[in-house]
Amino acid sequence: MTTGKINVSVENIFPLIKKFLYSDHEIFLRELVSNATDATLKLKHLTSIGEASVEYGNPIIEVKVDKEGKKLHIIDQGLGMTADEVEKYINQVAFSGAEEFLEKYKDSAKDSGIIGHFGLGFYSAFMVAEKVEIITKSYKEEPAAHWTCDGSPEFTLETADKSTRGTEIILHIAEDSLEFLDDSKIRQLLTKYNKFMPVPIKFGTRKEQKAFGVGEEENMEEIEVDNIINNPTPAWTKQPTELNDDDYKDFYRELYPMQFDEPLFNIHLNVDYPFNLTGILYFPKMSADLQIQKDKIQLYQNQVYVTDNVEGIVPEFLTMLKGVIDSPDIPLNVSRSYLQADGAVKKISNYITRKVADKLKSLFTENREDFEKKWNDIKIVLEYGMLSEPKFYEKAGAFALYPTVNNKFYTLEELKELIKDKQTDKDGKLIVLYASNNDAQHSYVEAAEAKGYEVLLLDSPIVSHLIQKLEADNENLQFVRVDSDHVDSLIKKEESPISKLSDEEQESLKTAVEGIVPATTYTVQLESLDSKASPFMITQPEFMRRMKEMSQSGGGGMFGMGNFPEM
Ligand code: ADP
Ligand code: MG
Repeated sequence: MTTGKINVSVENIFPLIKKFLYSDHEIFLRELVSNATDATLKLKHLTSIGEASVEYGNPIIEVKVDKEGKKLHIIDQGLGMTADEVEKYINQVAFSGAEEFLEKYKDSAKDSGIIGHFGLGFYSAFMVAEKVEIITKSYKEEPAAHWTCDGSPEFTLETADKSTRGTEIILHIAEDSLEFLDDSKIRQLLTKYNKFMPVPIKFGTRKEQKAFGVGEEENMEEIEVDNIINNPTPAWTKQPTELNDDDYKDFYRELYPMQFDEPLFNIHLNVDYPFNLTGILYFPKMSADLQIQKDKIQLYQNQVYVTDNVEGIVPEFLTMLKGVIDSPDIPLNVSRSYLQADGAVKKISNYITRKVADKLKSLFTENREDFEKKWNDIKIVLEYGMLSEPKFYEKAGAFALYPTVNNKFYTLEELKELIKDKQTDKDGKLIVLYASNNDAQHSYVEAAEAKGYEVLLLDSPIVSHLIQKLEADNENLQFVRVDSDHVDSLIKKEESPISKLSDEEQESLKTAVEGIVPATTYTVQLESLDSKASPFMITQPEFMRRMKEMSQSGGGGMFGMGNFPEM
């Protein structure tokens, strides 16, 4: 038996670790299961290259709760460690840098945005345990080792009589962390962090019906089988060519077991240069409540769950999507503000934007009819993307649609072509007429249609911003809502409007209406062209109305998701 001092520059690692990882104690389990997974995968690699001449077999990882003994066990069948390796890998932690690190990131460490573990890995066990034991046997022909440490820099290391290869970590759970002895708590954590890890993880057993015998002799019998909590080969780790529509839908349900909606379509991300990134994004049907839909994309690193706060990694407008992103190249141990400034992260964000735009374009060209059907369910995200990401805006010209009140859908180019003869003002500017609410503006729509004009239905809450942008980028284009006072003056008039009312009738009607609506913001127009249209109209200035709308939907231009308009 040897005793010695762990190579740490502080006297007691407890306070330091607790300080470091304060916000998220539960990640200890993720770290230990990750280590068990690494140990298993390392062995797999060593056997495959012939460096370890042992049978790899079908190793699993087991997590066991011992409630009476107040212990939690994490057991793997990986490569194990010799006593020397325990000395090297466990005792000589590069821990002296921890204090400086905490000092350096003092400010950012305070905000909860920090992803909590700073690469402490194994030592995160001391967030919940007052004593930790390692019993480990290497695949090499050497005796097993038993390491014990109570969180002080003192440890003991002696030989153990473990005969099977692999490592068992035993946590003696501290009094203030007894929740981690609850089966349900552990199951919840394993499901959250380890659901898609690459080595099967057993947590208890479950009963399964199994058929015995054949034909009439067949009997069902209940047997106990390992309860494996994870799917080691989730869809995103496969090639898109291996998967069909149903596979993608099945995976969606696997990701969101409590949700019963069907995704509209998916985007499989798969890139290995200049960074590694895989994943599957889903376009859900957008419900009215955009806030609730945020934060549904899960971020993984090598199949280990990291967070569902992907702000800064995914462009903001895509945080309304669902799905997974897995990248070993996203620096996870730093604060969010650092993340946003990181060049690699920016590249990832740009890549995702481009990929989403490309996919939308191909969906549009391959099956326009279907794309049109989905448009109203996805437009809010895409319009938001067009406003917030210049790269996306550029590409969106190819597939962004502008629906009419009659449910026809045009791209901007098609629309321009369509109205270029009929809807121009005296300077030849194209006038796009639109309604923002087909019921409320119905009589105006009818009047415009009676004149043979095309009327769009633009009813998103952010549409005034989009219109502003489209006008800024297309000098020859002007959007005018059907109830605007200058609809007629803007459009080349072939006939002048006639009212069916006498002059006196007109005058008294006008006075009556103006008594109700303020004449400064609205105008009463009594002209009417055909019998179907209303006898008179109340119109308002396009410009003033639009400015008001824009200030209501988020501070005139710059709008973060925080003040995203409610629908
Ligand atoms: P990291 O995993 O980032 O290397 P950790 O602190 O989590 O850091 O682990 C330190 C080292 O201890 C690992 O790199 C590995 O060599 C060793 N180790 C930890 N757990 C195991 C295990 N279950 N089996 C074998 N080796 C392990
Ligand atoms: Mg680790």
